[in-house]
Amino acid sequence: QHLFSHVELAPRDPILGLNEAYNADTRATKVNLGVGVYYDANGKLPLLKAVREAEATRIQGAPARGYLPIEGIAAYDQAVQNLLFGAESSLISAGRVATFQAIGGTGGLKIGADFLQRLNPQAKVLISDPSWENHRALFENAGFTVETYPYYDAQTRGVNFAGMLQALEQAAAGTIVVLHACCHNPTGADLSAEEWQRIIAVAQARELVPFLDMAYQGFGDGIKEDAIALDLFAASGLNFFISSSFSKSFSLYGERVGALTVVTDGKDETARVVSQVKRVIRTNYSNPPTHGATVVATVLNTPALRSMWENELAEMRERIRAMRAGLVEKLQAAGVTQDFSFVLRQRGMFSYSGLTASQVDRLREEFGIYAVSSGRICVAALNQQNLDYVVQAIASVVR
Ligand code: PLP
Repeated sequence: QHLFSHVELAPRDPILGLNEAYNADTRATKVNLGVGVYYDANGKLPLLKAVREAEATRIQGAPARGYLPIEGIAAYDQAVQNLLFGAESSLISAGRVATFQAIGGTGGLKIGADFLQRLNPQAKVLISDPSWENHRALFENAGFTVETYPYYDAQTRGVNFAGMLQALEQAAAGTIVVLHACCHNPTGADLSAEEWQRIIAVAQARELVPFLDMAYQGFGDGIKEDAIALDLFAASGLNFFISSSFSKSFSLYGERVGALTVVTDGKDETARVVSQVKRVIRTNYSNPPTHGATVVATVLNTPALRSMWENELAEMRERIRAMRAGLVEKLQAAGVTQDFSFVLRQRGMFSYSGLTASQVDRLREEFGIYAVSSGRICVAALNQQNLDYVVQAIASVVR
């Protein structure tokens, strides 16, 4: 009897598999558009100046490394709330908001999912079609049945809002609806404020449980602008969940800095919810790590570092926008007749390019340009050095 003799090989993660193939490619001109990270104008993963300064201060202070409270660093949790809702939020002053430091945005989703599973094990989870590839597995692993609501409309390259609304109108009370608060991954197609209002009305009428995933705050139109859905949900009086992440906005992917935020009816309810979510955390990993959240809290709560970070985030956002514009302009100049102007309307790091799986195959095989088979490309991996090459390659495969 051998313990592992019947263990089957799990399927490879498609995106990590793509990275491995890219790394093994020996062509000097190769480009990896399959990634989900922001690269700077030189194609490098940046370490933000604000982060470097906060880290230097921290190392200088040589702090001891005791355990954190189960819910994390209080100053961090408070800074997360202020960033999501604004420091003047009446929700916060009314004691309706509980925030838990989490192991990245993924960790925020996971502790939220585990808590929801204890509240209502029979609830169904609805995610967008398509969605970030980990949403389904994460909620299934927490014990839920996961289905999808229509989201992307390939014809308009925007949101199939009628289809989405109809699916939510048919959902049973208690259904958990995972919503991308901004910069939808993978499509880049977001809802308008009016559309969010209608989603909120359905969530209220149907007693749905909204779970907003905020992984890209600041990558769309700005820190405040990207929180429009949160503002509307906050004003609605609904109870809802938010997972948020600083992986992208602080370029701190490996430090795993995120949070779960829960909006309740009031102080007393908050205290009870906090006690239960703390049990979930305690039995998963006991308490969160110190470094990343200390750095983020220092930056957010120190005015000089805060404005330095906001400028660096704006620079990332504007560079992505410039790459979108460059891509559209140069494709047209290269004689591509197909309309790519939708790339300019998309928000965040990604573009659903409309390239077919076989065109993606040709990009990889003939040009060493790697993209996800769905046609998702990471616009943040484009730069002035590789843009012309990518444009020529796309022009040649769509011809
Ligand atoms: N949610 C979405 C929509 C994402 O795209 C990502 C990261 O790619 C995450 C959550 C997870 O973020 P983190 O790396 O902070 O766990």
